[in-house]
Amino acid sequence: MGLTKKERTLQIIGWLRKVHPPPLPVRVIFRPICVGKHWTKSHDGTTSRKGRTIWIIIDGRLKTYSMIETALHEWAHAMTWRHEALEKKGYHPDHGDEWALAYGRVYRHYHDQGGREESKKVRLRRRRKR
Ligand SMILES: [Zn+2]
Repeated sequence: MGLTKKERTLQIIGWLRKVHPPPLPVRVIFRPICVGKHWTKSHDGTTSRKGRTIWIIIDGRLKTYSMIETALHEWAHAMTWRHEALEKKGYHPDHGDEWALAYGRVYRHYHDQGGREESKKVRLRRRRKR
């Protein structure tokens, strides 16, 4: 039986935790992204921090491909989330050089260096019924 798109995305997140560890624990939730006062359009995902946890929110309505791409994109934010940025109130950090390098690593590992297959071996901790 195949995984749901959310289960597959969580499997990839589990793989990312091992191969591209973040500076703080990362939790992932799926829900539509609210349009905040700084945004003029909706987002597919956001990365933010509360306390010692980085939260990645991914729009659960996305199709599988977009959901996975969003997870890779947001993971690069989590990987490069520096302390200064943690103290700011903004919920969506810049796409600077550091982010771009992290994203490039994650993207290449997943798409070009076997990550897609590697990640399929990751066991999900919990599985929910649809
Ligand atoms: Zn971003």
